[in-house]
Amino acid sequence: MEMNVEAVIIGGGPVGLMLACELAMAGVKTCVMERLEKPVPHSKALTLHPRTLELLEMRGLLERFVSKGSKISSGHFSMLDTRLDFSGLETSCPYTLLLPQAKTEQLLEEHARSLGAKVFRGAEALAVTQNGAEAQTIFKDRDGSVRTITSKFVVGADGAGSIVRKQAGIEFPGTDSTVTAALGDVALLSPPPSGMLSLCTKEGGVMIVPLSPGRYRVVVISPYRTQTPKDTPVTEEELKTDLIRICGTDFGLSEPSWLSRFGNTARQAKRYRDGRIFLAGDAAHIHFPAGGQGLNAGLQDAMNLGWKLAAAVNGSAPSWLLDSYHAERHPAAEGLLRNTEAQTKLIDFTQAGLRLRGMMSELLAFPEVNRYVAGQISALDVRYEADPNLPPHHLNGARLPDMELILSDGRSKRLYSCLQNGTFILLSLKQEADDHSQVKGLRMVNALLAEPNEKWRGVHTVLIRPDGHVAWAVDASSPACAEVIQTGISRWFSTTSPV
Ligand SMILES: Cc1cc2nc3c(=O)[nH]c(=O)nc-3n(C[C@H](O)[C@H](O)[C@H](O)COP(=O)(O)OP(=O)(O)OC[C@H]3O[C@@H](n4cnc5c(N)ncnc54)[C@H](O)[C@@H]3O)c2cc1C
Repeated sequence: MEMNVEAVIIGGGPVGLMLACELAMAGVKTCVMERLEKPVPHSKALTLHPRTLELLEMRGLLERFVSKGSKISSGHFSMLDTRLDFSGLETSCPYTLLLPQAKTEQLLEEHARSLGAKVFRGAEALAVTQNGAEAQTIFKDRDGSVRTITSKFVVGADGAGSIVRKQAGIEFPGTDSTVTAALGDVALLSPPPSGMLSLCTKEGGVMIVPLSPGRYRVVVISPYRTQTPKDTPVTEEELKTDLIRICGTDFGLSEPSWLSRFGNTARQAKRYRDGRIFLAGDAAHIHFPAGGQGLNAGLQDAMNLGWKLAAAVNGSAPSWLLDSYHAERHPAAEGLLRNTEAQTKLIDFTQAGLRLRGMMSELLAFPEVNRYVAGQISALDVRYEADPNLPPHHLNGARLPDMELILSDGRSKRLYSCLQNGTFILLSLKQEADDHSQVKGLRMVNALLAEPNEKWRGVHTVLIRPDGHVAWAVDASSPACAEVIQTGISRWFSTTSPV
């Protein structure tokens, strides 16, 4: 095994692999340790939501994913009858991509390897320690030998039972499961007409989603079985009986390839960082998989952390940057836990519960309410705190949708295509921009917006982070515009020697 690494990622699930892509792209020597010798064939997650798709688009990966999945223009909140309309959201990706997690992992692993990341399978992390200068991971290799690998950083992307989290002594407070649900990946001889179904009655709730020709994911929440322990096996018979009771038919269910039970345990790590050790994805937050958000949030963690760790390794990270990962992503997952807990509470098949669901569904029919909730599930509403050390601006911390730019030579270019290499973009909307191209990790773009809008009126310069959020912006009318740009650059880039 290659021992000269700068970042060790424990866990080769979607989050670890996404992070490996980001780090390797930035030139960080990265290795992923995955205890499983082979990827699991079944998929927990099936959805990639708009913000995640935007992130893939920024890295030029979107088409690769879209070609393997299918688009649907809506999502759901607690299986309410009124669907969430993603089609009107301000994004270049106004849809959810149905793509099994196994496919997502395969595409990310291929990409990570192509960028030079090493992915070791059959390598199980046993312990993680650190001192001021480096971190050590003790692991069992596939031949059974126990070895140690030293790196500058270790990231625990090792899922809900994270050994990294435990080794770092990071608490994982929250609540235990009170409700379980059953799922089956099955063949349906007589599927519902559109191939999809979301139905809640006093007998329970059913969701059906197509997986591949003839095969479907069936999820059943039965009020008679919510207390069934998670480790009680699901049987084909159980699914059939519940489908008949709730829907009047079992849709000709047969040939299960995966049966599983899952619960609503909700927990979040108290800290996402302990010195040289970081947590991302399910290692940092778990919840009921309502609305299909966990994998998405984890990929967004990886996108937030990747460029920050790379800057630290490459010597361009200001002292506060690594702590901003917790400061930004912990509140994002708090919001995620809030909405999944609310969704779980709404899964109530009593008469009063069904009435509440009916009212909530009516409320979702109001476009503004629908947009608000769709903003949460799509994660397009995630906005980070503005940098308190710079003058306030309404764009600071905001996520930027993709936009068309007109370059100074008249050519047009999409904003996201400028972010493909994971560098910062200093977007100057005025011709008289100073040259800052010598700043490491910063790319200057002089351009105008092809479709100027109110939000951007009077904006002079914007520093866009590698994850597509605005670090800071300044208006042309600001009395100290040039100084703000200079201070903003000094604050976000450091020239310290690599850690
Ligand atoms: C039924 C169900 C449906 C879901 N549907 C959706 C959905 O539609 N959309 C969505 O966004 N999310 C969904 N989720 C959630 C989603 O599956 C998870 O959030 C996602 O898998 C988290 O990815 P991860 O990489 O953080 O962790 P994991 O996928 O758990 O990966 C962690 C990896 O670390 C490895 N590992 C663990 N310990 C060690 C160790 N000591 N050494 C080395 N390797 C180790 C594991 O083998 C594993 O491969 C669903 C979850 C469930 C249960």
